[in-house]
Amino acid sequence: MDETYNYREVQGRIFDIQRYSIHDGPGIRTIVFLKGCVLRCLWCCNPESQEFGIQTMTVAGEKKVIGEDTTAGRVLDIVERDRPYYRRSGGGLTLSGGESLCQPEFAKALLYGAKMRGINTAMESMGCAKYEVIEELLPYLDDYLLDIKHTDPQKHKRFTGRENNLMLENAARIAQSGMTRLSIRVPVVPTFNDTVQEIAAIAAFAGRLKNVYRLHLLPYHRLGQDKYEGLGREYRMKDILPPAGEKMELLLRTAREASGLECQIGG
Ligand code: SF4
Repeated sequence: MDETYNYREVQGRIFDIQRYSIHDGPGIRTIVFLKGCVLRCLWCCNPESQEFGIQTMTVAGEKKVIGEDTTAGRVLDIVERDRPYYRRSGGGLTLSGGESLCQPEFAKALLYGAKMRGINTAMESMGCAKYEVIEELLPYLDDYLLDIKHTDPQKHKRFTGRENNLMLENAARIAQSGMTRLSIRVPVVPTFNDTVQEIAAIAAFAGRLKNVYRLHLLPYHRLGQDKYEGLGREYRMKDILPPAGEKMELLLRTAREASGLECQIGG
C-alpha cells in the first residue's frame, strides 16, 4: 500500500449506491454503481448505467437526474456505515455499473481505499479494457465477478455491440494471475445463449481457466424494462420471457458437466 496515495480526492461518477445486497459477492454488501459502459447488451437491466453522461429518466411519472459526481472518500464514508454487517457476514464493497473499468482511476481509488479501511472488495465486470487497466486493480480486489456472455464473437457482437475476444483473453489473464478470487457469471438470455450447446461452450471455457472459484448462471429478467421507457428508449427484448425453472436446472447440470466447477443458479 502506498501511504502517500490520496485516494479520498479521486473523482468519479456514480448513479446509485445500494446497501444490504446478498447477491453480489460474499456476505452482506454495499454496491456502488459506476456510470458508463462500453457494451449495449439488449437485456441490460441498468440502461441508465450505459451512458457516462448525466441523464434524466422518468421514474413513476417524476423526472429523476441519473448520475452524480463525487469522490472516492465520500463514497467510502457511506460504504463504511455498514461495517458491522460486513464483519458479521464476511461482506463488503462491490463495484458494479455500468462497467467500472470505464473509470479506472476512480475504481482503483475505491478499491484501494476500501482495503485501507479493512473492507472486503468485489467487482462485477465483463473485463472489456486493456489488461494493464485491470492489472492495476487486482492487488486491491478480493473477488472478481467476471461476466462471460458467449463464446461466439459474432453473436456476442449482435447482442452486445462488441465482439468478445478481448474479454476472453482478459479472463484467461486474470485467472492466470491468481491475484483475486475469480467467479464466472453467465447471464442466461433466451435467444442469445440459453441452449445446452452455448452454455456448455461457455462452461467448458471457464473450466479451462485456472483458479476459478465458481460459475454462476444468472437467469434473464425484465426488471429493467420500465427504465427504457423512462429514458425514451425502446426495450428490444419485450417479447422474450425469462427462462423457466426446469430449463435453468438443465443448464446448471450442463454447466457442471462441461466445466467441472462448482456451479449455481443466481448470484
Ligand atoms: S455489460 Fe452490463 S452494464 Fe454494460 S450494457 Fe451489458 S448488462 Fe448493461
